[in-house]
Amino acid sequence: MAIVIQPVVMKTKIFSAVVFCAVASAQVTAIRVGHLIDPETGRVADNQILLIQDGRFTAIGANVAIPAGAEVIDLSQSYVTPGLVDAHNHLALTYKMDPENNSYYLTSVLDSTPLRAIQAVSNGITMLAAGFTMVRDLGNNANYADTALRVGIEQGWVPGPTLINSGLIIGGFGGQFYPVPERESLIYPEYLNADTNDEIIKAVRRNILYGAKVIKICVDCKPYGYTADEMRLFVSEAAKAGLKVAGHVQTKAGAMRAIEAGIWSIEHSGALDDEAHKAMARKGIWRVGTETPMTEYHTGVNDRTKAAFQRTIDGMKNARSNGVKMAFSTDADYYIPNMTRAQVVLDFLKSWKAADFQAPEILKIMTTNGYLVCDIADKRGPIKVGLPADLIAMRGNPLQDIDALRSVSFVMKDGLVFKKDGLMTPETFFHSGPTPPGSWRIH
Ligand SMILES: [Zn+2]
Repeated sequence: MAIVIQPVVMKTKIFSAVVFCAVASAQVTAIRVGHLIDPETGRVADNQILLIQDGRFTAIGANVAIPAGAEVIDLSQSYVTPGLVDAHNHLALTYKMDPENNSYYLTSVLDSTPLRAIQAVSNGITMLAAGFTMVRDLGNNANYADTALRVGIEQGWVPGPTLINSGLIIGGFGGQFYPVPERESLIYPEYLNADTNDEIIKAVRRNILYGAKVIKICVDCKPYGYTADEMRLFVSEAAKAGLKVAGHVQTKAGAMRAIEAGIWSIEHSGALDDEAHKAMARKGIWRVGTETPMTEYHTGVNDRTKAAFQRTIDGMKNARSNGVKMAFSTDADYYIPNMTRAQVVLDFLKSWKAADFQAPEILKIMTTNGYLVCDIADKRGPIKVGLPADLIAMRGNPLQDIDALRSVSFVMKDGLVFKKDGLMTPETFFHSGPTPPGSWRIH
């Protein structure tokens, strides 16, 4: 519906905002869904009607009446699921073979924060188009380019997934970098040093002030990793603002200290063995394993990578048999020629299939578990009356063949159509100003 706003009205910004709001809330969208999948239970409901108003689901069922004047979207030949989640990505980091030989230390010198924010927009759009309506973004994003992306999406400047972003990674001196003394300043802003209790508290508060929604720490990147007591301080300080703590873990000892401290999630799985998995299961700690598949383009295929991949899938099977909570996660932060960030991410399906996870289980891990590890499941994610209208559709049944997810043809985010019939239609996401009214306060 076109709205003609007279110049005299344009001067009265509050009035024009009210007009926009009233029109948006009146419009009802109805979707005819052929097969509606509930990934939590694995059940399928056929021939459902979804009503959406003001960006949220208002009715779901087989006998829902479509109001007169509603915009009707036909997905009667498709399978519809909630949006997918990558629980560990770095949208504002893209290291490359040329020129930096895939060393992100050099990327941090070569690519400015503004450029990396633009990369994040581009990567976010490819993720959304592939069906990822939510991304947990865990740092290495220059000077809060991740917050800039999240705010840009929430204010309506650009389309993108819902972001749960960490701001700067907090670590003991140096983070994951090994600079020479005369280049010590390069540690920041990829990492925020915090070596004492006071510095830990201040680093957590700094991240929260600048827009972090989860706190990411280096548990054991250096020989002077955090103690369990120090990690308890991270957890309690973050909890004051309702945030959880995600820990990058690369040693068994670090994993056991993080588990003892009651961290929310352990990022990466290389150091997790049967004992660690059992302890994680007991405490309900998430395994965000970032299980890289063995591919020609990424790891290469040889005896060494075959052995490494076997360890990866053995670890996934061990975690499952111990009842550890698992999330789909990738650590994608690099450029593979001729592949989008989303295509790189979707190739991680290979790891889950190699570890004998069945399609319904993988779909649940990529959706239900994703909202849970993002700590947002009661606010967004499931297709449920009252929640924001995010959903995806595809022709194939992902409960039978998980690779159907590689061909998502329809994406809705917050009740707006982002992709239809396989083509992106992002125009409705570009507002050229903050929207809804008052959203300039989002930060
Ligand atoms: Zn990472």
